[in-house]
Amino acid sequence: MADNRRYRKKSLLAAARIGRIVGEHKVIVDPDILAGYAKDESEAEPVLPDVAIRAEDIDDVVATLKLAERFEVPVTPRGGGTGKSGGAVAIRGGIVISLAKLCRIEEINKADLLAVVQPGVVTGELQAEVEREGLFFPPDPASLETCVIGGNVAENAGGPRAFKYGVTREYVFGLDAVLMGGGRISTGRRTVKGVAGYDLTALMVGSEGTLAVFTGVTLRLLRLPKCVATLLARFDDEVSAGRAVARIVEAGLVPRVLELLDSACVETARKEGKMPIPEDTGALLLIEVDGEEGSVELEVERMAAALDEGGARDVLAAQDEAQRSRLWAARRELSELIKKRAAFKLSEDVAVPRSRLAEALQRYRKAGAEHGVEVASYGHAGDGNLHVNVLWNDPDLVVKARETVDRIVRISLDLGGTITGEHGVGHLKKKYLMWEQSREVIGLQRKLKRTFDPKGLLNPGKIF
Ligand SMILES: Cc1cc2nc3c(=O)[nH]c(=O)nc-3n(C[C@H](O)[C@H](O)[C@H](O)COP(=O)(O)OP(=O)(O)OC[C@H]3O[C@@H](n4cnc5c(N)ncnc54)[C@H](O)[C@@H]3O)c2cc1C
Repeated sequence: MADNRRYRKKSLLAAARIGRIVGEHKVIVDPDILAGYAKDESEAEPVLPDVAIRAEDIDDVVATLKLAERFEVPVTPRGGGTGKSGGAVAIRGGIVISLAKLCRIEEINKADLLAVVQPGVVTGELQAEVEREGLFFPPDPASLETCVIGGNVAENAGGPRAFKYGVTREYVFGLDAVLMGGGRISTGRRTVKGVAGYDLTALMVGSEGTLAVFTGVTLRLLRLPKCVATLLARFDDEVSAGRAVARIVEAGLVPRVLELLDSACVETARKEGKMPIPEDTGALLLIEVDGEEGSVELEVERMAAALDEGGARDVLAAQDEAQRSRLWAARRELSELIKKRAAFKLSEDVAVPRSRLAEALQRYRKAGAEHGVEVASYGHAGDGNLHVNVLWNDPDLVVKARETVDRIVRISLDLGGTITGEHGVGHLKKKYLMWEQSREVIGLQRKLKRTFDPKGLLNPGKIF
């Protein structure tokens, strides 16, 4: 674990002052406990922060950002720590501020279809709570049992349901936030419409903890769909599965989930997972449609026809909740199972236009073969957003593996795609940002960052 000592002295001085205001029990300096704040779920090297502040209310956040700026100490916000790009890792040391204890659901409003929540509310818990009221919060990152709303907003998180419902940004009406220096702002609204001024809410969504620390989020809700049907289609290979995705979109069908597992992922799920998968399966598509009862039945029929035309070997349909979760098993387990496939792994979450998915899958696989490593892809095919894993066993292949990752990113951009569909740039993908965006666009973003945080102390070293 790296130990960046540059700010240690100033951090400890700031922490002593913060402790006097917020309560010393919220200030962590014990290295054993700090180790729990050193990493996220990415491949970024862990870095031990000098101090962690476990904020319990907005005043704690204000005091931390005020004194950190006065002492010129970097601050890294942290939610559930499930990030996949190193965003919550304090790469420069300094203070980590954890928002996990700001975890109250303040309001669920059925008439206005909105919820007001603190940033530390666990995403899955919010979903369960609103569903009890017949309401629906669609963004569903696969980490929803452990990630929190503040982290989702900071990363503009997506998930399997994004194909129909979009990503977190579509559900953020407004934000309460604290700026570096301790200033409090509220942006956005509680109304469906609202066009006053620049859309600072949209700017802060996806800002990866670099512009402000969120302390409250007003979220848009929908009515809970009455009926959901789940289908699992088997294909000979990922290219035909990719083509079937394009066919589904062309047919005007709007499933809420359209997830793909390529042949390497299918093999992993067959060998290591709980779900029985026939030997001759080369790729899988997991599909869900939702809506009113009659319309769902109709859509399932049309979907089955489109899959058939698209070359599916067969299509399984879940008849009840138990069958639904059995069909989901292979996809749900994959993030963990794929780690067992090889000794080393690097993963990317590139996205390409849906129509280029089949071509992208072929080219990623070829790039891996040319470099002597394996490429296994799965994910949100409906959005063209894939988790592309580069896998290898021989430690000497690390350079080749990194070259393969570079190639995968280049291929995605070449096909009109992006370097990151949902995990953010964070620390790990900084070098790729300039492959995607012009100097002018990056320069403008840097100026915005300086406007929010003139001393560059909030989550420094991220994105740019
Ligand atoms: C198994 C697994 C599956 C995943 N599946 C998905 C998926 O389907 N879709 C997807 O989009 N992502 C997915 N992720 C990635 C990750 O869960 C998301 O990026 C999530 O939004 C991170 O939330 P978090 O609370 O864990 O944030 P953290 O990791 O704690 O932080 C992420 C970033 O947000 C900032 N931040 C956190 N809280 C605040 C705040 N209150 N104010 C300002 N900035 C803040 C941090 O500084 C950091 O830059 C997955 C991760 C895992 C491990």
